[in-house]
Amino acid sequence: MIKGTIFSGMRPTGRLHIGHLSVLDNWVKLQDEYRCFFGIVDWHALTTSFDNTEELQQNIQQMLLDWLSVGIDPEKSPIFLQSHIKQHAELHLLLSMIIPLSWLERVPTFKDQIQQLGSQGKDISTYGFLGYPLLMAADILVYRADTVPVGEDQIPHIEITREIARRFNHLYNTDIFPEPQAKLAKISMLPGVDGRKMSKSYNNDIHLGSTAEDILAKVQMMVTDPKRIKKTDLGNPEVCMVHTYQNIYNLTQIEEIRTSCKAGQIGCVDCKKRLARSLDEMLVPIRERREYYLGRPELLREILAQGAKEAREVTEQTMTLVRAAMNI
Ligand code: SF4
Repeated sequence: MIKGTIFSGMRPTGRLHIGHLSVLDNWVKLQDEYRCFFGIVDWHALTTSFDNTEELQQNIQQMLLDWLSVGIDPEKSPIFLQSHIKQHAELHLLLSMIIPLSWLERVPTFKDQIQQLGSQGKDISTYGFLGYPLLMAADILVYRADTVPVGEDQIPHIEITREIARRFNHLYNTDIFPEPQAKLAKISMLPGVDGRKMSKSYNNDIHLGSTAEDILAKVQMMVTDPKRIKKTDLGNPEVCMVHTYQNIYNLTQIEEIRTSCKAGQIGCVDCKKRLARSLDEMLVPIRERREYYLGRPELLREILAQGAKEAREVTEQTMTLVRAAMNI
């Protein structure tokens, strides 16, 4: 039995990496329990990268391939591009009439990001950036979604979405919008191979389409116990990035590796090769599905077109109700 309706989206800002797998694996599971709508939210990408759109289409394509390769199934869940569904923009505009400015200004990420990106010389003090939590709310409410899978850091966005739904329903004496519930997902924050946040811009990520050679090259960049010079030195796996990864991706060997490292019975080169092998084994089916879709551009277009058709049907029903409630 279907438990409810979910909208979830991602900004197409680059190729997805293994750090995204916990979110995506959760989506794959949710497809069997909820009516899911998955949007590649390209308008959101413009809120911080409005001046650099050269790679946008390529990023959209890569994101679609990544989603399909991990098992998001377009037969179960419509996959679409946000900008193909104009109802998102219409609802965003209409909600902008009723949301007090102070609600947007107090969203924690607003000031944080302005400061953070400002220190990198980027000015995002735009109308679009201030309004991005409202666009997010419109993305969710236009499907009348009652559930949104999120990590802890996104809870303020769900809170504001609930407040907007409540305000709209109250102002127009309606119950069009459910107040969506956050469905907290266990999202593991996997560090990049150099220990910093995993990001394409740091070149410390292992993207989902990596070949065995790419993986080995990235694993070789990982810092190990600095006190270990030769194989027979007793190691401390707790200070080693390879061990952090083995602990997630090589559970069948982790105990033996830990013991051997502490006893000086395994070399770091061998240890890294083992990690690279287990990461490769994990990515083989993902890579194979990716290759399948990569060779079928027509199928990719059909998937987005079919997803947009289904999304438009649902969102137009919502907008018909919204327009009637607002007498427009
Ligand atoms: Fe890290 Fe493995 Fe070397 Fe131990 S043997 S320090 S766990 S790479």
